[in-house]
Amino acid sequence: MSTIQSSCAYCGVGCGVSVSSTQADWENADVSTLTLTGDSQHPANHGHLCAKGERLLDSLSQPNVLRYPVLRSGIPIAWDEASSLIADKFAQTIAKYGPNSVALYLSGQLLTEDYYVANKFVKGYLKTANVDTNSRLCMSSAVSAMQRTFGEDVVPGCYDDIEHAEVIILIGANTAWTHPVLFQRILAAKKANQTTLVVIDPVATATAKQADIHLAVAPGADLALFHGLLGYLADNKQLDHEYIATNTQGFEEVVGDAQLLSADVAKLAKQVGVTEAELTQFYQLFTQNRNVLTASCQGINQSVIGTDTTNAIINCHLALGHVGRAGSGFFSLTGQPNAMGGREVGGLATQLACHMGFSAPERELLADFWQVDHVADKKGLAAVDMFDAVAQGTIKAIWIMGTNPVVSLPNSNKIAQALADCPFVVVSEISPDSDTAKLADVLLPAQGWSEKCGTVTNSERTITRQRGFIAAKGQSKPDWWAISQVAQKMGFNGFEFTNSASVFREFAGLSAKVKQVFPSKIFDLSGLTNLSDSEYNDLLPTQWPIASADQIGQQGVRVFTHGVFATPTGKAQFVTPADTNMSNSTTSTGTVILNSGRSRDQWHTMTRTGHIASLRASIPEPIIQLHPETLAQYSVKEGELVTLESDVQHNTSQFALARVVIDQDIPKSMALMSMHWSEQFSLGKGVNQYLDNRVDPVSLQPGFKSQAVVIKPV
Ligand code: SF4
Repeated sequence: MSTIQSSCAYCGVGCGVSVSSTQADWENADVSTLTLTGDSQHPANHGHLCAKGERLLDSLSQPNVLRYPVLRSGIPIAWDEASSLIADKFAQTIAKYGPNSVALYLSGQLLTEDYYVANKFVKGYLKTANVDTNSRLCMSSAVSAMQRTFGEDVVPGCYDDIEHAEVIILIGANTAWTHPVLFQRILAAKKANQTTLVVIDPVATATAKQADIHLAVAPGADLALFHGLLGYLADNKQLDHEYIATNTQGFEEVVGDAQLLSADVAKLAKQVGVTEAELTQFYQLFTQNRNVLTASCQGINQSVIGTDTTNAIINCHLALGHVGRAGSGFFSLTGQPNAMGGREVGGLATQLACHMGFSAPERELLADFWQVDHVADKKGLAAVDMFDAVAQGTIKAIWIMGTNPVVSLPNSNKIAQALADCPFVVVSEISPDSDTAKLADVLLPAQGWSEKCGTVTNSERTITRQRGFIAAKGQSKPDWWAISQVAQKMGFNGFEFTNSASVFREFAGLSAKVKQVFPSKIFDLSGLTNLSDSEYNDLLPTQWPIASADQIGQQGVRVFTHGVFATPTGKAQFVTPADTNMSNSTTSTGTVILNSGRSRDQWHTMTRTGHIASLRASIPEPIIQLHPETLAQYSVKEGELVTLESDVQHNTSQFALARVVIDQDIPKSMALMSMHWSEQFSLGKGVNQYLDNRVDPVSLQPGFKSQAVVIKPV
């Protein structure tokens, strides 16, 4: 029996897995002879897996795997022809319309090596920053908030904080469903240490039902809740004045604003949607315990006020000096397995590699390292604007990798039309069946989990090797290889990578250079610069920053422990929210707020999990959950099929279908429907078609949980 350690493909917990084979030539072994368990040595999960992780091997039985490049006509072509065609089309488009007429749209499913090469190609050689990722939809508000306060996109704490915390606050996070292994760890800590668990969520979720305190706040009221808390801390003389004076800036501006809210607790409680007693109990809990850990996820991020809300949370921890200390502070739960790795290499259109921005010295460093005359000189288009530009015809060639924007973006029918009308669309995928793959002019077979090699970074900054263990199907290739082929066909030097290790070495070398020139940067892979191929292959899970090779394997690393931050002054920045009365949404007579969420056993647009019968069994068809009093407003009954209408979408030829389920745990004004379903797996189209594409003005992340809709009987 031989065993290979790898990582789970689904969520940002980043669990390690062990795959075993009884056969000597097990790369070519029958999948049914392989076994998969949680990796007992991996620091993220210590051997535990959730239902999705346990069934990872089932995802290898995908019914229709893409095995060779294919044109929209269905005619297969060789890789050499496909890469020449893409290179020619991109070069012709840029020659005629300029660099900003092309774009790449990536995914948190890509490995860091794929992301690195994509960013080098676009920002270094195509001279545009039009490369964004579906991580924009997931956690860019947390990124922007951390950049504003800490000066860099850095999560201060680590999973070990769970065991050190006296109070854990989960806000906008149904962790029991979306990060199940981490939630089990929280429950174990709660039992062992009598940790108090607070869940802040308008819905009585599976997570909220296990909390000691559930604050069922009004949708969008989290900002007022935490901004008011800051005022309460000041009113009750709980502030750490020495820390504020020494390690932070901007406090005086924000605290006065916050105290306007806390001055009238009864009014604030009403605004937040809880009783005065509930509000006071929560505020007292925050002030009376030394170790308070607040973790947020999509309920905060997927909002047009997501960045300000996250900053309001961080403000409270800063005011108590509780950042970089065991068991306390702010923690961001990432959605995808490599959302963080993508950001490390500049996967967002709004930043450059190694957490650099677009200042002249940063651009010059990157141009020098890549040996190009210059790199993209300004931010590119983020996801929503990128697809708007496709719809308007200003982007004329787009390459989409490992994601399904036709289902996952808001106003999704518009995305489908935009791609249908776009002159040139390339899609890299493992299957030709996704709604987006069907719109490709050139469809490229990407290696999937189990085949590809590289690294991913989880929510707590741990880099884990993802190792291939079966032979790649047909002619499928790593994404970094496909991009390199096209780059070389366009005449670019610098893409002669031989394997994923060679890509990683270059990336780590860039990180070392950046750290040398900008020593205040926290992100640092200097200690991984000289890994040999075999050392890279054997790399242990390691948390960054990694300044030297003897730190390989390190865990439990916190940053900002000495109160020095990555801002120009070294001080953390308090942020005053733009408007605490601002709401995500408004309803009018006959409408309810549609909350486009997720369910426990499915992943994204189901392209990987929709085929697995045991995962489909828990919720086999689209459902819409409504409070009984909400249902009474409409002439429909439980079990009947309904569709929706919104200001965005009322075209009856394209509609989502869902079966009504009565749920006492849903607020009266809300309809909860998961974003997973699409035409590929149900009779109707996806629910995101009903959402407008309003974005947070700072992070450019869309709000997914606040659209007014009308329920329509079918
Ligand atoms: Fe995979 Fe996340 Fe489940 Fe861990 S918790 S097994 S990473 S889906």
